[in-house]
Amino acid sequence: MENTRTPILIFFNNDQITSEAKNLNFSYPEEYIFKEKKKIFVFLNHAQKFDQLQKNHLIFNIGMKLHNFCKKGTFYIDFFGDDHSSIFTLSLGWALMDYSFDKFKKNKVKKNSPKLAHSHTVEVNKQKKSIFYVRDLINNPANILGPKDLYLNARNFLAKDFKSKKVIGKKLEEEFPLVSFVGRGSEKNREPLLCEFTHKNKKSKKKVILIGKGVTFDTGGLNLKLGNGMSLMKKDMGGAANSIGLANLISQSSNNFDLVLLLALVENSVSAKSMRPSDIVRSRKGDYIEIGDTDAEGRLILADAITYALELKPDLIIDLATLTGASRVALGTEVPSFFTNDEEIAEKITYSSNLVGDPLWRLPLWENYENQLVSAHADFKNIGNSSFGGAITAALFLKKFVKDISWVHVDMMAWTRPNNFSSYEGGEAMGIRALLHFLLNNYN
Ligand SMILES: [Zn+2]
Repeated sequence: MENTRTPILIFFNNDQITSEAKNLNFSYPEEYIFKEKKKIFVFLNHAQKFDQLQKNHLIFNIGMKLHNFCKKGTFYIDFFGDDHSSIFTLSLGWALMDYSFDKFKKNKVKKNSPKLAHSHTVEVNKQKKSIFYVRDLINNPANILGPKDLYLNARNFLAKDFKSKKVIGKKLEEEFPLVSFVGRGSEKNREPLLCEFTHKNKKSKKKVILIGKGVTFDTGGLNLKLGNGMSLMKKDMGGAANSIGLANLISQSSNNFDLVLLLALVENSVSAKSMRPSDIVRSRKGDYIEIGDTDAEGRLILADAITYALELKPDLIIDLATLTGASRVALGTEVPSFFTNDEEIAEKITYSSNLVGDPLWRLPLWENYENQLVSAHADFKNIGNSSFGGAITAALFLKKFVKDISWVHVDMMAWTRPNNFSSYEGGEAMGIRALLHFLLNNYN
């Protein structure tokens, strides 16, 4: 077997380039990966000046690119010229290229995937399994995956390590009035629910709560989205999908903290029963909220989940949500924003994000924008009255429910488009590799 493996050499600066490679005829940087004399050469000199996050993100992407380039056979990394980034990151990028979502295609994708031999197989496979789950869940359309289907699916996926329960119907209306209110326009088999998954550790001292926004389809409600803005809205449960993926990753790792996962699951539909703009509804916390826009539904369901989470007395709450287009306007589709009321946590998350090459970019909880949520007739509104800074006012809305517990809010696209490194288009895991690193290194 040994002699059938093709070596890959990855150079990060000119000093590393072997004399053999120097004599090769190639045009850098247009052509930075190529094959010659049964070896694969990769020149990443252009990454020398990248910051840590971008370099590690590039290495993740290079793993994907190499997978495409190598097509078939077995390969191994013979030389990797950077001490500050890891072959693990590259191996994970490579492994994720095995993904396809073809359950609704008669002609299944037949892949003869190339193999990369490395020493991180167990951890790569673990992450791959969770990431593929996140993608599958998002890619399933809303006619297949409603709130209850999502719950059952998650229960099945997490069955080994988590206990679960759900709240529905009259009880949901009483205990989680905002979740119930957002989902009240849905048809019979698309009713809203809140579910809770618990993973306990015997020796645990700390408790972390993850909350996922699971809007299985977002029409916008009576403030109906236009066709363009609605076409991707099966992904509006991407926060829930990512939080399930992260919960699974945590339970599969040697963690010593108690973990609770809360999913607020609804469809935001249009019907005679839908909530209306100007409706005023009382939250679990007791504040009255005026519906300024029925399309700002995600923060409503998260608010009740956060209030409940506080009652469980956690050390940290992290919510994951495809919350605002404004976050995408600010940072583009690939970089999720995060907000936190804890300076130390902000630094630690950024550190983890840089280290694993999984972008999470902090935006401010800019207090002066809070008055944009003022309502004439209720305690406050669910949307700001300015066309600017919508990701921030959404975060400020959530902050009203958090009190003084450490809290992180992640606003993500949960969807990837074809790019220079991969042709994959669809649901995506975002930020959960960084959050996994952060949690395992700070809450154990
Ligand atoms: Zn919406």
